[in-house]
Amino acid sequence: MSDCLFCKIAAGEIPSSKVYEDELCCAFYDIAPQAPTHFLVIPKVHIGSVFEVGPENSGTVAHIFEVIAKLAKEQGLESYRVVSNIGEQAGQSVFHLHFHVLSGRDLTWPPG
Ligand code: AMP
Repeated sequence: MSDCLFCKIAAGEIPSSKVYEDELCCAFYDIAPQAPTHFLVIPKVHIGSVFEVGPENSGTVAHIFEVIAKLAKEQGLESYRVVSNIGEQAGQSVFHLHFHVLSGRDLTWPPG
């Protein structure tokens, strides 16, 4: 999508601190980290949010979770949280599917 921030990051048109990239997804550090470790994993193809996940793209989402597990192991994360905000009331501010990976501090539950 031409005016999507994360499409531009995925395409390398906007700089980011990339931690991982393959043909389906990429991961980069959040610009406003909410924990000592905070990176985002996104599909390269534009998917607005979990609302738009279906049979045509769920394989990419499954792949993203494999990547999350791999990166967490590589970074030695022993405990972490994976979050996807869906819709404005839930806190979504960028409307391209992304999974936050947060670690390195006590994370409260339930979330605020
Ligand atoms: P959400 O609010 O769940 O949609 O998450 C969007 C996240 O993207 C926020 O945590 C922002 O800090 C992060 N973000 C926005 N712009 C950038 C950027 N240029 N590079 C990295 N992270 C970003």
